[in-house]
Amino acid sequence: MRTPIVAGNWKMNKTVEEARSLVLSMSLKLREIGGVEKVLCPPFPALLAVSAMLQGTGIGLGAQNMHWEEKGAYTGEVAPAMVAEFCQFVIIGHSERRAYFGETDEMVNKKVHAALAHGLTPIVCVGETEDEYASNRTGEVVRRQISRGLADADPAKAATLIVAYEPIWAIGTGRASSGENANAVLADHIRPALADLFGEDTSQAIRIQYGGSVTGANADEFFSQPEIDGALVGGASLKKDDFIAIVQAAAK
Ligand code: PEP
Repeated sequence: MRTPIVAGNWKMNKTVEEARSLVLSMSLKLREIGGVEKVLCPPFPALLAVSAMLQGTGIGLGAQNMHWEEKGAYTGEVAPAMVAEFCQFVIIGHSERRAYFGETDEMVNKKVHAALAHGLTPIVCVGETEDEYASNRTGEVVRRQISRGLADADPAKAATLIVAYEPIWAIGTGRASSGENANAVLADHIRPALADLFGEDTSQAIRIQYGGSVTGANADEFFSQPEIDGALVGGASLKKDDFIAIVQAAAK
């Protein structure tokens, strides 16, 4: 049995003060919900404050990105050890980073290696564009993202990886995939690609989230699918009632 995991990607939202008040408004409720792992991913400047607030709550903390190099002349970047000071998780290869900041599968791969080396759990995002979906290329795209992005990852740590399947056409659009469609992508392409890399047993242990317009109202549809082990949530993770409802749905 894989424990479901719900992560909130706050993206470029919330100042430190705003982050504090959002955490304050939902942490008590969130910590009461058992049987599901919860993770908050605020922007970098809020990590210190949020990490202090989450101490002892059992709620995990994640960064939304990081560089793969240890340190040096990389203006504006954040090193793995800096992330690992506060976080247990790091989102890698989000489609917005791929689309707006030129992140490639090769860069994703370096970040995955760096994260695992620093004891961080990577949440690795994969997913197809609208055009790729329309031309039936979803399988080919996610298989390539998995095989290149996770290539040569330490097999002893591979079972701890988290993959987020996020069809790009469903992100922030209010047009979520159907649970059945997302489940089929996981069953037919993502888990088999993981098995090719790490073997059948490890592929069965890796948790795969769905992401793309998940809300409190549609969460059940995803979590009732056998392959879907939680969600990566964008917009709805900024609304306390919605996020709590999603976590509750995952716990059922
Ligand atoms: C995301 O950005 O990872 C995401 C799933 O966003 P949203 O929930 O807003 O579609």
